[in-house]
Amino acid sequence: MIAECRLAIAESKTNRQSAVGKRHLFMSEAMSVATESAIHTENLSKTYYDFWGRPKVTALKNLNLTINRGEVFGLLGPNGSGKSTTIKLLLGLIFPDRGGSAHVLGHPAGDTEINARIGFLPEESYLYRFLNGEETLKFYGRLFKIPKKELKERVPILLDTVGLDEKARKRKLREYSKGMARRIGLAQALINNPDLILLDEPTTGLDPIGTREMKDLILSLKAQGKTVLLCSHLLADVQDVCDRITILFRGEMMELGHVRDLLQVKDVTQISTRGLNESQVQEVKTFLSRLGATEATVTHPTTTLEDLFVRIVRDNTPGGNGAYTSSK
Ligand code: ADP
Ligand code: MG
Repeated sequence: MIAECRLAIAESKTNRQSAVGKRHLFMSEAMSVATESAIHTENLSKTYYDFWGRPKVTALKNLNLTINRGEVFGLLGPNGSGKSTTIKLLLGLIFPDRGGSAHVLGHPAGDTEINARIGFLPEESYLYRFLNGEETLKFYGRLFKIPKKELKERVPILLDTVGLDEKARKRKLREYSKGMARRIGLAQALINNPDLILLDEPTTGLDPIGTREMKDLILSLKAQGKTVLLCSHLLADVQDVCDRITILFRGEMMELGHVRDLLQVKDVTQISTRGLNESQVQEVKTFLSRLGATEATVTHPTTTLEDLFVRIVRDNTPGGNGAYTSSK
């Protein structure tokens, strides 16, 4: 009897230990995700309060998101869906509601050392209007304590990269067009050679060429191994450059995944081929393999990101009549 009791106590102890062990393992796994990923949020929420301290808007609700290092990630959503709020939380410019957390490059959001490794292009750049493009970059370079010699080399390279020519870089920022302001804002965001770049609506004000250049630049940042978080309501921008996206609506995550997978219409199969005449096209459905068609592929066709976006907004609008009113 005593032996049985001892055995039971020993067993329950072992079970308890293994439960503790499992919890430990789980926690250490969670910790390693937080430290190894570029961005990791858990139940990240943000409520804005009014003057009297009453909750006014819940701009973000329980965002659970992991962005891998080296990834170009798109945060997509209509105006007022919480994109800029998310970026501000990641930079530690505002504080999250209790119970939620955000890690950036392995450290809690807002850590000053980590912020020095982040490049940020805000929705509106507030740069000094009386400085010219070149002076602006030198000014920010000095703030990051970049050695003078290095800065002298880096500034013209960055100005070239963002497409500001000799004439433009000598003009005062107050004379810049919106597109030029966006370009100098981006150059400023890259001055510290950041590992993580947060871009809030980067193509706003850019013409189609400027937009194309911005997308190419984002892809070249990815090729350099950098992580990019891109916020936009412009669907084509996101579709062209992002590895994965999430769609936010009224502060909630609606979709998360690879662009290609999200746009795939899974219950439809599409067959595309070259080199077949009309009669062969009729036969192809039944005799595809025997026809020996060249470059024949069988894939799933995709819808557009626009369709997906509109569907999510409509499906989640009370009344479902397709009209939604943005709170912004
Ligand atoms: P997005 O960048 O997707 O357009 P935001 O994150 O800027 O959206 O805003 C999300 C919601 O939070 C909106 O309803 C907006 O009006 C509200 N909001 C944003 N900033 C503040 C603030 N400082 N005070 C009160 N409400 C805010
Ligand atoms: Mg915004």
